[in-house]
Amino acid sequence: MKIKTNLESIKKQIPPSVELVVVSKNRTLDEVQEVVDNGITNLGENRVQQLLSKYDNIKGDVNWHFIGHLQTNKVKYIIDKVCLIHSVDSLKLAQEIQRQSVKHDKITDILIQINVSKEKSKYGINIEEYEDFLESLKQMKNINVKGLMTIAPYTEKIEETRYIFSELKEIYDKIKINEIAYFNVEMKTLSMGMTNDYLIAIDEGSNMIRVGRGVFE
Ligand SMILES: *Cc1c(COP(=O)(O)O)cnc(C)c1O
Repeated sequence: MKIKTNLESIKKQIPPSVELVVVSKNRTLDEVQEVVDNGITNLGENRVQQLLSKYDNIKGDVNWHFIGHLQTNKVKYIIDKVCLIHSVDSLKLAQEIQRQSVKHDKITDILIQINVSKEKSKYGINIEEYEDFLESLKQMKNINVKGLMTIAPYTEKIEETRYIFSELKEIYDKIKINEIAYFNVEMKTLSMGMTNDYLIAIDEGSNMIRVGRGVFE
């Protein structure tokens, strides 16, 4: 009942143009199944092993999102199972996604993770590097860059994170205006905002939020 009520209250707060990805990491199969049974189609996982076990056991139409740091040697396990990889944070990872996508004869949608806050503990490319990064992705024909993702620092003073979201939105818009320069870039998704900060993120232009605790707790 808690899950259903939580989902209803989140949905009431977000405009229809914002997609909700429910982060199912560390939750039991029963909990995750309840989310799907309540009409959620987007689930996010940050560990390959957890994604695989839920992938096999959850019933229903689910689009699986990979949202955590992805080791190159594990790309092969999820490449044919995910609809979007939010967390592309290195050229080496992009190259492996390209290689595995060719093997599976598919085009893989990705987001570039940007470490706007520059926290050492966070993955993601630096904001200054995004142009070079896009340039390097240009030749990877089985990769589609669908947008950007970031994780804001956790803080009680959530207003302090607002600049993180507005800076990423600025970069997103810049790339969007110039996307014609890249055959494999089609800016559609700005993935930012979690339980703590999704309202601020949406306020600053997010169109995809990733919510875990707010759904399950
Ligand atoms: C865990 C996680 C979330 C969800 O965080 P909550 O605070 O539980 O909403 C979102 N994005 C990423 C990348 C995560 O690892």
